[in-house]
This record gives sequence, structure tokens and C-alpha cells, in this order.
Amino acid sequence: MRPFELTAPTTVEDALGSAGTFLAGGTTLVDLMKLDVLTPQQVLDINELPLRGIDTADGLRFGTLERMADVAAHPGVYPAISKALLLSASQQLRNMASIGGNLMQRTRCSYFRDVTMPCNRRDPGSGCPAINGANRMHAVLGTSDACVATHASDVAVALVALDAEVELTSADGVRTVALDDFYRVPGATPEVENDLRPGELITEVRVPRLDWAANSTYVKVRDRQSYEFALCSAAVALDVRDGRIADARVAAGGVATVPWRLKAVEAALRGQPATEESFTHAASVAAEGARPLSANGFKPSLLKRTIIRALLELTEGNGR
Ligand SMILES: Cc1cc2nc3c(=O)[nH]c(=O)nc-3n(C[C@H](O)[C@H](O)[C@H](O)COP(=O)(O)OP(=O)(O)OC[C@H]3O[C@@H](n4cnc5c(N)ncnc54)[C@H](O)[C@@H]3O)c2cc1C
Ligand code: SF4
Repeated sequence: MRPFELTAPTTVEDALGSAGTFLAGGTTLVDLMKLDVLTPQQVLDINELPLRGIDTADGLRFGTLERMADVAAHPGVYPAISKALLLSASQQLRNMASIGGNLMQRTRCSYFRDVTMPCNRRDPGSGCPAINGANRMHAVLGTSDACVATHASDVAVALVALDAEVELTSADGVRTVALDDFYRVPGATPEVENDLRPGELITEVRVPRLDWAANSTYVKVRDRQSYEFALCSAAVALDVRDGRIADARVAAGGVATVPWRLKAVEAALRGQPATEESFTHAASVAAEGARPLSANGFKPSLLKRTIIRALLELTEGNGR
């Protein structure tokens, strides 16, 4: 690891006033610094900032420094969010890692993490060895000729499904952005991963009140049942009335370059009976536009099956 200067501001104003890379739990940043993927000269430990708190009075509000484990354990948090967190990383990591840091984590593409390899995301214009290389874990949706890396966060998928917003604070003021708009597909500039401006801090994560999100879940398919990133995942919420689907929220992870909201699947579910047949029909549009790579041709089909499994999980004993 290269030498760096570490400071620990105690007010948001001080944190925004100094240039540097924010450090929350450090579970991603420190790894990437050890690998020389990130080489900040100044690191700002933000753990003393007053950015904690979980409020479930009207929708959900999490301070950005809330730990993944604490958000997952809070009784007022919608099940899809809790489950996505509990299926992430390990208990030790969840105790350390913050919600804001989770949303800002970098891709797990092995080429990105290996500075001896080219990578357009790390070194713009150098190339993308994953496109014709080891790409089993990579994306089939939202890809470009410049980058095919998946977004790694599980909880971001549940948050996108539930219309979450992030509050962003900079020296110029505070703004709020829908999480679905926050992330950027790679296009020709994969190094631009999100809407965060230099020096801007995620200060809060908000989820609007949605009473029927109590009927939500997160299904994660991976190579082993713990401590592994998603091959494919689905966050779903269903409003079922008299056996019919009044409304639905669906998003997918592990298959796309950003957390992938599936509004076409939601539209196909609305008004239909809550049956496996309807779920199968709706899921059939989930992978429209998918561009499989040499080693991940199974992902479009896995995506459809993951969505169906999540929907069935929600309706077992409820309308079926
Ligand atoms: C072995 C392993 C397995 C994992 N498995 C999973 C998994 O299955 N699912 C999953 O979702 N994640 C997984 N993770 C990722 C883990 O969840 C993240 O490392 C963690 O959430 C990052 O949070 P942090 O607080 O430690 O962030 P840090 O490492 O401190 O920061 C990460 C990045 O976010 C920036 N940042 C932090 N806070 C803010 C803020 N408030 N505003 C703006 N920028 C900020 C930092 O500058 C840095 O660039 C895994 C990690 C490891 C090491
Ligand atoms: S997929 Fe993206 S992150 Fe991975 S090597 Fe290609 S450009 Fe880099």
C-alpha cells in the first residue's frame, strides 16, 4: 500500500471542505488500496460524522454510516432490504460495512482488481479483457463494448426495486437523486459509475412508505450458499388482493452493469392472478435485450427462474 495522509473530520462541513477519499467501514476501500487499484493521497475517515440513525416512522431513512448488520436487524425495515443485506458478505463484514459504502462499492470484476491487466473502468481506453475472457460472472444487461462488469451490491437491488433515493451533500448544498438514476451504465465511459460529484457525500438513504412492501423478498443465486456474490438475484414486492396482483416491484442483480429495475415485468404482473403461470409469463420479458458473453449464456434463463422463485416465495399460502 502506498503512503497516504489520514484525517478524521467530525463535522460534515469539515469533511466536504477537504479533498480526499472517504473511508467508512474500509472493507472495500482498504482492499483496493492494498491492490494499488486505488491510490488516494488523502483519506478522510468519516466515521465520526453525525450520519447515523434508522427512522421507520414514515417510510425508511438510514444515515449513510449505519452498518449493514444494524439495518438488516431493524424490525421496521422491509424484508427485501433485510434479506439482501443478510445474504451479503459475512457477519463480520456486515458489522463493519456501512450502507453508503455498500452503495459505492466497486465491481468485483477480477480484471478491475488486477493492475497488471488492462481495464477500461480502472484505466480508461486500455481495453476490456473480460469481453473475450473469464466472463461467467459478468453482465448480460446494460453492457457496452467498453465494459461488461456487474454491479456487486445486493442491497442496492432491493433499494432500486422500492424506489429508494439517496441524499447527496456537497459544499454547494444538498440534493436528492433516485437510486435508479444514480447509477450509470458503462456506455463509452465505464469509469463514470454514478452521479456522485467530486467531494460529494452520500448522507442519507430514503425509501418511500409502501405498506405492501411488507410482502417483499430477495432471492440470491450464487455458487455457494454464503460469502459469495450473486450470479443472479431478484428483489420483488407484491400487492396481492383477492388472489390478483394489484401492484408489483421487481429488480435484478448479478446480471446487469447496474441494479436493474424490471418495469416491464411489473407491468406484466399487474392485474393478473397470483399464480405460477402468471409469474412465468411476466418473467419471460425480464431478459429482453440481454447480450450473453462466451461463458454466461445461462444468465437470461437463470434470471427468469430467479424471478419466478422469488414471486412464488411471496405467494406461498397467499392467493395460490
Ligand atoms: C469478502 C467480501 C465479500 C463481500 N460480499 C458481498 C456481497 O455478497 N454482497 C454485497 O452487497 N457486498 C459484498 N461485499 C462488499 C461489502 O458489502 C462492501 O465492502 C461494503 O459494503 C463497503 O462498505 P464500507 O463502509 O466498508 O465502505 P468503504 O470500503 O469504507 O468505502 C467504499 C467506497 O465507498 C466510498 N464511500 C463510503 N461511504 C461513502 C459516502 N457516505 N459517500 C460517498 N462515498 C462513500 C469510499 O470512498 C469508497 O470508495 C463483500 C466484501 C468482501 C470484502
Ligand atoms: S468488464 Fe469492465 S471492469 Fe471488467 S475488465 Fe472490462 S472494463 Fe474492466
